[in-house]
Amino acid sequence: ITILAIESSCDETAAAVVRNGRTVLSNIISSQIDLHKLYGGVVPEIASRKHIEKINQVIEEALCEADCSLDDIDAIGVTYGPGLVGALLVGVAEAKAIAYARNLPLIGVHHIEGHISANYIENKELEPPFLCLVVSGGHTHLVCVEGYGKYRILGKTKDDAAGEAFDKVARAIDLGYPGGPKIDKLAKEGNPDAIDFPRAHVGDSVYDFSFSGVKSAVLNYINGCKMKQAEYNRADIAASFQKAVTDVLVDHAMAGVENYGLKKLAIAGGVASNSALRAAMRKACEERDIEFYYPSPILCTDNAAMIGAAAFYDYQNGIRSGWDLNAVPNLKLGER
Ligand code: ATP
Ligand code: MG
Ligand code: FE
Repeated sequence: ITILAIESSCDETAAAVVRNGRTVLSNIISSQIDLHKLYGGVVPEIASRKHIEKINQVIEEALCEADCSLDDIDAIGVTYGPGLVGALLVGVAEAKAIAYARNLPLIGVHHIEGHISANYIENKELEPPFLCLVVSGGHTHLVCVEGYGKYRILGKTKDDAAGEAFDKVARAIDLGYPGGPKIDKLAKEGNPDAIDFPRAHVGDSVYDFSFSGVKSAVLNYINGCKMKQAEYNRADIAASFQKAVTDVLVDHAMAGVENYGLKKLAIAGGVASNSALRAAMRKACEERDIEFYYPSPILCTDNAAMIGAAAFYDYQNGIRSGWDLNAVPNLKLGER
């Protein structure tokens, strides 16, 4: 089964050709980051407009690089939520048009299911059940992947997502957008034990997260220094903040694998490319004899190959979308 996959939920216009869910024949990503950087974040209207300009070209490139034509495609997969409604609509309309014109099955894919499925691409042996920590720009979920397309959410963030916290702290220390990769880099020059930022645990569940507290603590720390007209070390702030966040992510993930008796842990989403998180998680997994999986950085952030991987397993599960498929900006994982 060869799937043409389309992703346009945020600020990446992406298309990919994926065979049997695990073999990527092409993976084209047109990022709008330079455009949105000017505004310090994604501007929804600009994102939609840019997707319209780029999508046909990106799809053509994906087919060309995969050395195939639409004749070789068996199904169309497309992200239909969650994300920015205007941005999602561009991909959904395009996918519907191609599928209808070519009489191909259409498969609406959940964006976070895509992030999780990115792990299947480079880890051919990975199969459910496993625990997946999803840490992206808008989501922080601890998910038990019980089967293909079968998810049990153990915990989620009560406020900011992990990536959102990275981006906000980066802005506070003038690193610009997107901040995650910049904090990752600067933190390498700082001392992670320099400042004791809070490790927030949420009352009612051992698996839930909260990152607004650590973000506020960073902002308060900076304001305190400014009031005293004291110097502050941005690298130490970056390293200490990153440590505070990764400590909690590792703790919760380890509680999950232990309590559910799982032997495999995967991480997914943009923050999964964070070098400190990868190192800390690898160490914690080694200590417990748990198999640790993670995608290459290019498959952690938004791309269509991961949508193609998820679409394949949806296809296998008999899922087909109708011509009334619509964008669902706040689609929940496990819902259709
Ligand atoms: P969602 O998937 O929840 O809808 P999104 O698609 O915007 O949100 P992703 O593309 O998965 O999010 O990831 C982008 C996020 O990942 C940004 O917040 C970015 O700062 C963060 N990020 C990327 N690389 C790193 C890194 N090396 N360290 C920390 N954070 C990172
Ligand atoms: Mg993005
Ligand atoms: Fe994403």
